[in-house]
Amino acid sequence: MARLQNTEAKILDTHFLEGRNDVLSTTATPAQKQSEPYKVDWELNRKLQTSLHVNDITNIFFDGIQTEFNFAQMFFEHKNSDTNITIGDKAARHSCNYQIEIAGESLGRLSFSRSIRFAEHELNRLEELLCLLVYPLRNALLYEEALKKAMHDPLTGALNRAALDTMLDKEIDLAHRHDNPLSVLMIDIDHFKEINDNYGHSMGDKVLRSLVDGLNNHIRNSDILFRYGGEEFTVLLNNTSIDGAHLLAQRIRSSIEKMTHIYDGTVIQLTISIGMATLENNETANQLLERSDSALYAAKKFGRNCVIQA
Ligand code: GH3
Ligand code: MG
Ligand code: MG
Repeated sequence: MARLQNTEAKILDTHFLEGRNDVLSTTATPAQKQSEPYKVDWELNRKLQTSLHVNDITNIFFDGIQTEFNFAQMFFEHKNSDTNITIGDKAARHSCNYQIEIAGESLGRLSFSRSIRFAEHELNRLEELLCLLVYPLRNALLYEEALKKAMHDPLTGALNRAALDTMLDKEIDLAHRHDNPLSVLMIDIDHFKEINDNYGHSMGDKVLRSLVDGLNNHIRNSDILFRYGGEEFTVLLNNTSIDGAHLLAQRIRSSIEKMTHIYDGTVIQLTISIGMATLENNETANQLLERSDSALYAAKKFGRNCVIQA
């Protein structure tokens, strides 16, 4: 059962409202069906079924009810998925806030504001409309969570190979279109098998997680890290020439070499080898990855703990 908790900020009054699925009940009389609010509800309900993205759903809801309420701003926050969506201009003086829940599961917080105070009948009407939002919003949150899981490696939290395949095609397209340089680093841990053999597989897992933290600390915000597979990682460097990529690769290699991993008193240090390549004219994703992989192979042959560019 959906539950909306309304807190009218200025009134300091809190009450709960059970989700009502009867808003669009087919038992509506012909007169009700022709009434303006009924048409609004029907149209809004239809539009809310057209997307599975939280951003779309919240925008559709805002647009659908705006003529009735004239909000200055609507704000949606869902902490579990790190979602924050602000629609409209600056927040205004009067606001009402709703915690939305289904069966004890939080679907986030919605906040509406405008310069005119909310009347009781308007809050009732808003709550009626919010009942239309609850299930489409839950579906969108579930869908986006599933998408996120499909794109991430569960062990390290890094983006996975499927995400790389999708994102690399897009990045290459953009780089070709805007004539921007795009570089790729292919990173492989040196002698990682020895860590598993000497300390056990679960220690190996911990090292992989801490390596990802280390890599994330040393790449820039615009760089994207992927777990390519096993103990291999890929970094996409947007708008980065071969020289810039080389500097960054050396910085990463040297910082990982200096990192100390301590687990239950065991001190582990590791090094990485890096192969790198910069996108050439008309090059495809596979060709670019193959070139950086060959460079990585050369780095291993060269003695490991080094950077080789294709
Ligand atoms: P090189 O310097 O040539 O790269 O040697 P290496 O030992 O790192 O490479 P090799 O390919 O021989 O071994 C990779 C090891 O990585 C073997 C595999 O068991 C381990 N590995 C792959 N994925 C995982 C994982 O998720 N967890 C753990 N603990 N180990 C993994
Ligand atoms: Mg290795
Ligand atoms: Mg490997």
